[in-house]
Amino acid sequence: LVPRLRPFTSTIFAEMTALAVRTEAVNLGQGFPDTDGPAGMLDAAQKALYGGQNQYPPGPGRPELRAAVARHRTRYGLEYDPDTEILITAGATEAITAALLALVEPGDEVIVIEPYYDSYAAAVAMSGATRRVVALVEGADGRFAPDLAGLRAAIGPRTRAILVNSPHNPTGTVFTRDELAAIAELCVEHDLIAITDEVYEHLVFDDAEHLPLATFPGMRERTVSVSSAGKTFNCTGWKIGWVCSTPELVAAVKATKQFMTFVSGGPLQPAVAHALDHELDWVAGLRASLEAKRDRLSAGLAEAGFAVRPSAGTYFVCADVRPLGFADATELAWRLPTQVGVAAVPVNAFTDHPIGWKHLLRFAFCKRDEVLDEAITRLHKLA
Ligand code: PMP
Ligand code: GLN
Repeated sequence: LVPRLRPFTSTIFAEMTALAVRTEAVNLGQGFPDTDGPAGMLDAAQKALYGGQNQYPPGPGRPELRAAVARHRTRYGLEYDPDTEILITAGATEAITAALLALVEPGDEVIVIEPYYDSYAAAVAMSGATRRVVALVEGADGRFAPDLAGLRAAIGPRTRAILVNSPHNPTGTVFTRDELAAIAELCVEHDLIAITDEVYEHLVFDDAEHLPLATFPGMRERTVSVSSAGKTFNCTGWKIGWVCSTPELVAAVKATKQFMTFVSGGPLQPAVAHALDHELDWVAGLRASLEAKRDRLSAGLAEAGFAVRPSAGTYFVCADVRPLGFADATELAWRLPTQVGVAAVPVNAFTDHPIGWKHLLRFAFCKRDEVLDEAITRLHKLA
């Protein structure tokens, strides 16, 4: 393996899930739901499978899916031409990697907000660019917010792009209108491309609202908006994602994407098109159910002795292990499956700067209530 990719030989999700399986631990590490998506979507996939849709879809994706993605984007007031401004990808992961490979060069800098979804660092490294990491800052209320002064300070003459993930994995922060407006202003002022990761766009709780960065002034033309079906429709294994942007930026992303996978998920694409058009009521139910699960797990973790941080979206809640007498959440995470039979992910797995994050564990609450309850019962043994 070439030296610049040597830090990326494994992922925390693969390792922690393997450990959870080996120890028969309740797996609140890797974020995936343990129930299926809407029946109408599964029926549509079956129909496509048995309906002769098993060959290569068109390079940019099946037209009905591109049209459905365009219609879905109008909920935010954003218009995209399905023929030139939308590209279907193998999940958000491929979309982000393809965008970086297409748009940045060795010597360029890409701003990444820490903690970051693990594929970002690997994808920036594949592109040969350098990541400039700016940490979220914790407020008095425990919410993690973007460090706007830090972002400004990190921008230099070689900065080409910024990766923005909201709702944010692992903290559950949903960036506010003011925070996004400030990030947008920086992008416009310094002529940056924004690559947004909006895979949790529907999974926001309480009064939080997902606002695409592309809706802010000057951003439609410089944002590569990325999302996917996995989190919205409980089908993380399908890996159907998409990019919405200008014809020029979409053409650039397509240039790299077509030589990585060309296409994927042929019969799943019409099913996701169906889901985007007809299953948003189901998604409203999912969102309400996840909000209750967030509350259930947060309360249980607090009872078990953790100091729980607020989460306004995603599948995740972060918890401070220090009140239980532990100093190092990474060390605890590797011990937890064997010791009490629960798996969680140390937030440090998503950071360059271990110090500020070393006391936090990330727990996934996208599980059946009885699974969450069993995890909580087991975690009480820590006290
Ligand atoms: N971005 C974030 C923030 C994620 O949590 C995940 C994990 N599911 C992904 C991207 C990957 O999305 P996909 O499975 O569509 O590639
Ligand atoms: N997105 C999921 C998480 O953050 C895991 C995805 C993966 O396993 N690569 O837990």
